[in-house]
Amino acid sequence: MLGFMVALTLLGSADTQPPAAPGPGVSETLARERTAAIRDLKYELSFTIPADRQAAVRGRSIARFSLDKPQPVVFDFAQPAERLTQVRASGRVVAVTVRDGHIVIPAEMTKTGANEIEFEFLAGDDALNRNDEFLYTLFVPARARLTFPCFDQPDLKARYRLTLITPDGWQAVANGAEVARKTSSGTVETTFQETAPLPTYLFAFVAGKFSVETAQRNGRTLRFFHRETDAAKVARNREALFDLHAKALEWLEDYTDIKYPWGKFDFVLIPSFQFGGMEHAGAILYNAASLMLDESATQNQLLERASVIAHETAHMWFGDLVTMRWFNDVWMKEVFANFMAAKIVNPSFPDVNHELRFLLAHYPAAYQVDRTAGTNAIRQELGNLDEAGQMYGPIIYQKAPIVMRQLELIVGERRFRNGLREYLKRYAYGNATWLDLVRIIDDRTREDIAVWSRAWVEDRGRPEFTASVRMGERGRLESIAIIQHDPMKRGLVWPQRLRVTLGYDGSFKDLPVYVTGAEAVIKDAKGLPAPRFILLAGGGLGYGLFVLDEGSRDYLLQHIADIPDALTRGAAWVTLWDNLQASRVGASALFEAALRALPREDDEQNAQQVLAYVTRVFWRFLPPDERVARAPALEAALRSGLERGRTQSEKAAWFNAYRDVVLTPDGVAWLTRVWKREQTIPGLRLAEPDEIAMAMELAVREAPGWDEILRTQIERTQNPDRKARLAFVAPALSADPAVRERAFARFQFVENRRREPWVLDSLQYLNHPLREEHAQRFIKPALDLLREVQQTGDIFFPTRWMNSTLSGHRSPEAAKTVREFLASNPQFPQRLTWTILTSADELFRVAGL
Ligand SMILES: [Zn+2]
Repeated sequence: MLGFMVALTLLGSADTQPPAAPGPGVSETLARERTAAIRDLKYELSFTIPADRQAAVRGRSIARFSLDKPQPVVFDFAQPAERLTQVRASGRVVAVTVRDGHIVIPAEMTKTGANEIEFEFLAGDDALNRNDEFLYTLFVPARARLTFPCFDQPDLKARYRLTLITPDGWQAVANGAEVARKTSSGTVETTFQETAPLPTYLFAFVAGKFSVETAQRNGRTLRFFHRETDAAKVARNREALFDLHAKALEWLEDYTDIKYPWGKFDFVLIPSFQFGGMEHAGAILYNAASLMLDESATQNQLLERASVIAHETAHMWFGDLVTMRWFNDVWMKEVFANFMAAKIVNPSFPDVNHELRFLLAHYPAAYQVDRTAGTNAIRQELGNLDEAGQMYGPIIYQKAPIVMRQLELIVGERRFRNGLREYLKRYAYGNATWLDLVRIIDDRTREDIAVWSRAWVEDRGRPEFTASVRMGERGRLESIAIIQHDPMKRGLVWPQRLRVTLGYDGSFKDLPVYVTGAEAVIKDAKGLPAPRFILLAGGGLGYGLFVLDEGSRDYLLQHIADIPDALTRGAAWVTLWDNLQASRVGASALFEAALRALPREDDEQNAQQVLAYVTRVFWRFLPPDERVARAPALEAALRSGLERGRTQSEKAAWFNAYRDVVLTPDGVAWLTRVWKREQTIPGLRLAEPDEIAMAMELAVREAPGWDEILRTQIERTQNPDRKARLAFVAPALSADPAVRERAFARFQFVENRRREPWVLDSLQYLNHPLREEHAQRFIKPALDLLREVQQTGDIFFPTRWMNSTLSGHRSPEAAKTVREFLASNPQFPQRLTWTILTSADELFRVAGL
C-alpha cells in the first residue's frame, strides 16, 4: 500500500514540476506506479541485425498504451544517452535524455487515452549474446532494458509485434509465428505475428545460421533449430526431442485443463547456453549439449534431458501464462516447473529410486542454510530488480520443492490440482502473487493454508522435533508423542505429514502421522514391540532437525547398514549428519560408522552422500593429530571401495574421495604414480580434468617434486581454458607463503576477480586445511572485500567467495575473526550478514564460538 500512495503523490505533483528522478534500476515503487497508470500496452519493434558482430544493432520501438490522465511516463533503457537517437510522442519530437537507465516522457507530452511513444536507438549488446553467426536474447530478470526502451517489470504484460532484418541465409525465431518474409539486396525482413500478453523477460528472438527440423505430433507442428554439424547425432536425437516435448505438452494440457496457450511451438538449441533452458513463450532456448546426447549417454543424462524438457514446457503455463507479479515470487514458477517435471518424467525411469534422489538432492543443501542464523525465508523482500540475484539460493531451489510436496500431501493430490487449475484460469495472461494462490487453496480445504504458509514460506528457519516414548506392559509401546518447537523462539509451528520409522533388527515399520500443532501422538504405535531405533524423518519425508534419542543414535551408528531399505538408510544418514551439526553425534563416532557402513552400501546415491560426509568430517571436524591417526584406515577403505566399484561412475566417486583426503606418505606416493601415468586403475578412465585435480592436490600436500608436477601439468594440458585456469591457480598452491600472499593480494582488484571459478579455486587452496594457520591472515581481508565482490560479481559469487574462504578453517581464532568483523560492522547489509553467518556456521560450531 505504501508504494501505491507514494506513486499517487509523485504523479499528482508532476503535472507542473519537472518529473521526479526514479533512481537506478527498477524499484518496486516505480513498478507499482507504472502498473497503476499504464493500460493496454503494445510494442511494435524492429531490429536491424548486421552480419558483423562488432557493428551495432539498430532498433525502432513504438510503445502504445492508454492513460487515465496526462502524467510523466518513465521508460527503462540502461544504455549511455548517445545510444538513444530520437524520441517522438504522438508524432512530435521530444527532447529527453537517458539518466540512471531511464527515459522520462514529461506529462505535457502525454494525454488522456491512447498514447504512442516512438524511439530510435542503438541496442546494447549486453543481453543480445552476439556470436559470429548467430545471436539470441536473454532478458531475465530485467535485461530487456539493455536492448530497447520498455517497462521492464513482470506485471506490465504487453503484446509484441516484431520485425527482424537479418543477413540473407539467416534463420529468425521469435515468440510469435512468422507471417511474412521479404528478401532484398542481401537482407531478409521477417515479420512475426503479434503475441499474446507477455512480460519483458519472456520476450525473445534468435537469429543466425541454424538448421531447422520439423515434425508433426498430435496434430501440432513442432520445430527445432540447431547448429549441430554431426548428421548422425541429429538423427539419433531428433525423434526423442520431438517425442519428449509432445508428451510433456499432452500431459500438461490434461493436468491444467488448459490448451497450450502460445499458438506455435519452437525450440532452439544454443551452443554454450548460460542455463539448462529458458522458457520464452513459444520459443524455448536450451543448452545444446544437454539435449543432443551421445550414444554413451547414461541413464542419469537421459533422465536429466527429459526433466529439463518437461520443466521448460511446464513453464508455458506456470510462469508464462500466469506470471509472478514481482521477482520476489520467482521461486513459485521454478518450484511448479520442477514439480510438474517430476510427475511427467519419473514414471518413464522405473530403475531410478526417485524418492531417494529427491531426498539427497534437496534436504542436505536446504539444511545447510536453514539450520544457520543466516537463513532466509522462501518469500523475500525485493526493493529493486537490480537485486533480483539475491533471491536465488538453496532456500528457493532446495527447500521450496520440499515445501510444495508437503502442501500437496496436506491438501491432497486432486484438490491441489484443482486449485492450480483455478489459479491458472483466473489469472491467465496476467499476474498473481503467492498469496493469491494461497487464498484459492485455502478455500478448498479445511486446513488453514494461510497459517501454514506463514511458517513455511514467509518466515525463515525450520522446526526442531523430539520423540517422547512411553512403555507399556511386557516390553510393548504405550505411546509415542512427537514434539516440535521453534529454535528461533518465535513460537512458530510447521504443520507437516511425517512417516515415523520404527526400526527392528533387519526390518522396520513406517507409521504415518500428521503433526499440526506443537505435539502429536502416534496412535498406531500402541502395543507394538519396543523398536531398536525411532527415525522421525522416515521415508525421507519430514523437514526439520529430528533429534535422535541416545538409543536410536547408538543403534544407527552401529547398524545403519543393516537397514534393508535404501531410502530409509539415506534418511538416517541425513539425520545423523544433522545431529552431528547439533553436537548430538560425535565426529569420531560418525567417522567410524561411515567406515563400517561404506563396504556394505550397495546404493550408489547413498554411497556418494556418505563419501561426502566422511570427507567433511575428516577435514573440518577432526583435529589435525586425529586426522593423521585415522588416515591409514580411511585410505584403505577408499582403496578397497575403488576396487569393488562396479561402474566407471562408482569408481570415480571412490577415487575422487581418496584424492581429496589422502594424507599418508604411501598414499601420496601412490597418487603421484597415478598422476605420472605409471599406475593405472582397472575400470577407471582418467581425463584431463582428473589429472589437473590430482596435480593440485599433490601440490597442496607438498608432495616430493610438487612444483615440477604443477609445471608439467600446465605444459601437458591441451584444453586452452583449463591450461589458463591452472596457471592462474598455481601461485595459490605454492609452498612459499610469500607467493601465496601475493596470489591473494591480486583479488583486491576487480579485473583479477572476473574469472570467478578461477578465483574460487585459488581461495579454496589458499585456505586448505593443511595451510590453515598461515591462511588465518586472509579471512579479514576477504570479509572486507565481500561488499565489493557482491557489487561487481555474478549472483552466486558472494556466497561462494565466503564458502571458499572459510571451509578450510576450524580454529577459534578464525571464528573470532568473523565474529569481530560482524560486531564491528553493525550497518553491514542484512543479506550479506546472513551470507556470512551461513558460511561461518560450521566453523562456529566446530570452534565452539
Ligand atoms: Zn525454470
